[in-house]
Amino acid sequence: MARILDGVAIATAIKQEVAREVQALAAQGVRPGLAAVLVGSVAASEIYVRSKVQTCTELGIYSDLITPPASVTTEEMLDLVARLNARDEIDGILIQLPLPPQVDTKALLDAVSPAKDVDGFHPVNAGRLQAGRPALAPCTPAGVIEILKRSDIPIAGQHAVIVGRSDIVGKPAAMLLLHQNATVTICHSKTRDLGAITRQADILVAAIGRPGFITPEMVKPGATLIDVGINRLTTREEFDRFFAGDAKREAAFAKRGSTIVGDIHPKAFEVAGAYTPVPGGVGPLTIAMLMANTVRAAKMRRGI
Ligand code: NAP
Repeated sequence: MARILDGVAIATAIKQEVAREVQALAAQGVRPGLAAVLVGSVAASEIYVRSKVQTCTELGIYSDLITPPASVTTEEMLDLVARLNARDEIDGILIQLPLPPQVDTKALLDAVSPAKDVDGFHPVNAGRLQAGRPALAPCTPAGVIEILKRSDIPIAGQHAVIVGRSDIVGKPAAMLLLHQNATVTICHSKTRDLGAITRQADILVAAIGRPGFITPEMVKPGATLIDVGINRLTTREEFDRFFAGDAKREAAFAKRGSTIVGDIHPKAFEVAGAYTPVPGGVGPLTIAMLMANTVRAAKMRRGI
């Protein structure tokens, strides 16, 4: 029976540690602060940003929610970022993506001060991460490492295969695993005979954005499966493809009209030695690591 890697419990432990650090900083007169920028009214983005702001409040981190209209221009956003870069009580700047099409997302992310880049998306932080220098690492991949370490899953010497090469998840996950001395293979949409490679993985990280893409035949028995994917299923047909006969899921689907599945087919978890469930695996770590990065940025900026 595969071990479930409980992301909720690990995220809770990290948030408790962050709260203790925030208290210790308060004794030195420092209160870490996060500015969250939410443009327009994309329902999913609103949910994410509100839960980030609420977590700040729970942990004693100052937060400022800024909500420009959907019609905002690149120039107005650049001006906003410049002001946030200059505000001393702001240690972290989070710009919730995606942005409306008229806004130049790359120009905006590049304008965030690397010292306040708590999402770890700035090229300076990407470069520092690659060079093995102190950097603010992207939250989701950093969360993947925390899950593995805190679950006592060995990384050094293991073959880690990552499917997906995005700048947000796949590439930084590969770099972080490499720094932990894994032997790393990165796969993508042009990879030939993907299954032959994923079957070699001791640790398989799926960050693809395709529901249940990794099937049981693609998994080495006993491997650790880290499922980063979040895919919403809304039709009966899709639901049955993954969860037919699962009474608990059925009840949730009937209630909400949707459910989520990762990039790894639930049947593949039966072959694994350990796996992160969806939901409740990697997802909760993203906010926890954002909080940890905000406190880290506050300390780094002050030389603490
Ligand atoms: P992305 O930017 O769309 O990247 C997807 C990657 O998957 C690309 O590198 C792509 O390859 C690869 N890919 C697509 N089809 C493939 C195929 N048939 N075979 C092999 N590789 C394939 O996505 P992302 O931002 O990294 O996100 C990936 C997933 O993680 C999504 O489900 C997203 O919702 C989820 N996510 C979760 C969290 C969290 O908090 N848990 C955070 C971020 C993202 P190419 O480069 O060749 O196109």
